[in-house]
Amino acid sequence: MTEQKSNKLTAAEEKRLAVMEKRYRNAARAAFESRTAYYHKVTGGRYTAITVRDQKSRWGSCSSRGTLSFNYRLIFAPPLILDYVVVHELCHLTHMNHSKDFWNMVASVMPEYKECRRWLREHGGELTLEHHMERLGIPLCLENPESKA
Ligand SMILES: [Zn+2]
Repeated sequence: MTEQKSNKLTAAEEKRLAVMEKRYRNAARAAFESRTAYYHKVTGGRYTAITVRDQKSRWGSCSSRGTLSFNYRLIFAPPLILDYVVVHELCHLTHMNHSKDFWNMVASVMPEYKECRRWLREHGGELTLEHHMERLGIPLCLENPESKA
């Protein structure tokens, strides 16, 4: 995995990153809630809550109590990839393991799941706010007197 934040950020950049991160976390929550509701009609199972976090090493998880947790950085991935993680965790409501039955269920909802997994393995490290801004060509800090301190 790549580093979340480089060491070279100024205080102003850090501050702006925090504001942007909040914005994207809210967007991620909305996306996960709506995509979970959408695919839940197909997968069934019972979930009790959705939490959105910034997990370092995992994209999602499903607790035995039915709490689905998702990594907010998936908001920087193509929508299909976010959907794959949603489907994956929803299928854990039925199969709490990675058995053949589990993967068959994932495949029945999302036949292209293997490509999605591969994409995540190859590109997961790029799913950071800084990378996202860089791709958009938007500097982290716009002209700001604080940054010249
Ligand atoms: Zn799993």
